[in-house]
This record gives sequence, C-alpha cells and structure tokens, in this order.
Amino acid sequence: MINKSKILRDQHGRDHAYLRISLIERCNLRCTYCMPEEGVKLSPKSHLMTYEEIYDIAKTFVDHGVTKIRLTGGEPLIRKDIPIILEKLATLPVELSITSNAVIIDRFVDIFKANGINKINVSLDSLNENKFKHITRRHEFKSVYNNILMLVKEGFTVKVNAVLIKGFNDNEIIDFINFTKDLPISIRFIEFMPFDGNKWDMSKMVSYAEVMEYVNKAFSKNSIERLQDAPNDTAKNYKIKGYKGSFAIISSVTNPFCDSCNRLRLTANGQLKNCLFSATESDLLTTLRSGKSIVPIIQKAVQAKFKVRGGMNTIKKLQEPKLHSKNRSMTTIGG
Ligand code: SAM
Ligand code: SF4
Repeated sequence: MINKSKILRDQHGRDHAYLRISLIERCNLRCTYCMPEEGVKLSPKSHLMTYEEIYDIAKTFVDHGVTKIRLTGGEPLIRKDIPIILEKLATLPVELSITSNAVIIDRFVDIFKANGINKINVSLDSLNENKFKHITRRHEFKSVYNNILMLVKEGFTVKVNAVLIKGFNDNEIIDFINFTKDLPISIRFIEFMPFDGNKWDMSKMVSYAEVMEYVNKAFSKNSIERLQDAPNDTAKNYKIKGYKGSFAIISSVTNPFCDSCNRLRLTANGQLKNCLFSATESDLLTTLRSGKSIVPIIQKAVQAKFKVRGGMNTIKKLQEPKLHSKNRSMTTIGG
C-alpha cells in the first residue's frame, strides 16, 4: 500500500498536486527574454535525467499526490527520446500536458493522441512575422502559426502564451484578442518576469492593469466577460462576448497567485525547485542514482517553500538584480 502521507503539503497549507518537468535545457529558438543569443551553459549530458529517471521521479510524486504533469523545457520536442518519455509517463494516473514553441509540433500529433495528451500550450509573442523573428532570433513564424491552426483543427485544447514587452508587442494586445474571434483558443498575456541574464527591468513589463486599459478602450464594457478561473489557475480569464476563444492575464509580478500555488518544478538535470522564483534547488537526481529514497529531500524542499515568490515578496525585492540572478535563466528552469 502506497503511503500517501502529506509530504507535498507545505507550511502554508498548500498541497502540491502539479509537477512541471523540464526535459531539456536546449531550444531551437532564442527568445530574447528567455535565452541569450549564444544559448546557455548546458549541463553535461551525464547530468541530465534519462527517460527512466524521469519516470522514476515522476512516479514518486504521483504516489504522493501529484495528479497533473506538464512537460516543458527548453523545447521539450527536440529531445530525441520524447516519444518514449510520453509513453512511459502516460502509464501514470495523471493529466499529462506539454508546453512547446510548436516549431516542429506537427510531427507529434499521432504520438500525443496515442498517449492521451490533449492540452497544449504554445508560445507566440507576435502575430507579425518580422517581430516574431526579432524576438525569437529565428525565422519560424509560419511554422508556429500554421501549427496552432492545425492543433485546433485536430481537436487539441490550445492555449497561446504571449510575454508582453512594452513598446514591442503591447500594441498587439487587441490583435491577439481578435485572433480568438473565430478560433477557440485562450490567449494568455504573461507579465515579463526577471530571471538570470534576461536584462529585466520593470519599465519593460506590461502589467495586468495596463492590459485591461487596452481592453477597456477597444471593447464596450458589456462585451467584456470575466470568466470563472479554474482552481489553482494562475490566470485571470476573460472573453469577448460572441468570440469563440478567450483571453487571460498571468500577472506573476503585479498580482502573484502564490496563495493557491500547487506547483513544483523539476529541472532537466534533476533538481527540484519549490518555486519558479526560488534561488535554491534540491538535488533529486544524485540521490536517486545513489539508490537512496528521494522522499525525504522532496519533503524538505516542500517545507522550505516561501509564502510568496521565492521570498521576493515585494516588487522592490523583485527589482534587485542580485536576488533574481541567484536563479537560473528560464530556459533551464522550465517555464
Ligand atoms: N520552449 C517552450 C515554449 O516556449 O513554450 C517551453 C519552455 S518556455 C521557458 C515556457 C514559457 O516560459 C513560455 O511561454 C515563455 O514565453 C515563458 N517565459 C520565458 N521567459 C519568460 C520571462 N522572462 N517572463 C515571462 N515568461 C517567460
Ligand atoms: Fe525556447 Fe521557449 Fe525559451 Fe523561447 S521561451 S527560447 S521557445 S525555451
């Protein structure tokens, strides 16, 4: 009988039922807010989790109450053994989903369907081909755009993530919302967040309040509908009446959703992060490889979780480069 003791409950009463697993540090794009042009310093291959290790660690979490696993990266789909990873994780009693930049996602439709994956989050920061190239430093707009349409046609539930950067794509907020008129997708505007090496400054961030200013100017009050957010949802959801899709704002900077946080993160080199903003990590992989139980380490990491944003509980603290440079870049955390 599996011991379902509450090792995933933290000191603030939050139960962690959601594990995000980063499968890879590498990526086929170079989004400016996420990765430097030359890429990031990669872990040696021997330090990365194999598919068996990913399964073993995931299973331990599932045995202790995780019901949702999202695969991310880097770009998860460029990992060569992704089909085996999906097959193995699909045997666990969890909702399995994936976050991808969608550049090559068309190759995976059958594999997703065979493994019960029907929720896919895709990143797209601009509907303009030149701007897309500017932000991702790659020429892949058409593949991503067409793949979003394809995923919808194939019946997947698609959320599109757009990180907003002032003066760059905030003038596309309404275009993005209008993209949901005939397409049943959810566009999620993400407040630009600080991570190591991404040259964050608060003035580049477009806040929840500013997004709503654009929306309120473009649409009449009666046509803007506030939707019910799902439990533990990080987004505030809205729709324009009559539109097939919806939009949302993920405001981790101005309005953190830490109270209802139920997430833990596992990096591709097997480190547990108890918060996206946390500066510390717990090494599960070395312990697993030594043949010992990872349960006590998980429990300790969960207990050490700060109430708000890895301890950066004020915007002032978030603005201190010293504090966020203790964290990794987003591509090696797994967003
Ligand atoms: N490569 C995949 C993708 O782009 O969807 C998965 C990994 S990516 C790190 C996951 C998400 O993190 C993306 O939606 C991306 O836009 C978001 N992200 C990366 N850096 C960010 C930052 N500084 N602030 C806010 N979101 C960020
Ligand atoms: Fe790659 Fe995703 Fe980071 Fe862009 S946001 S560089 S697609 S990992």
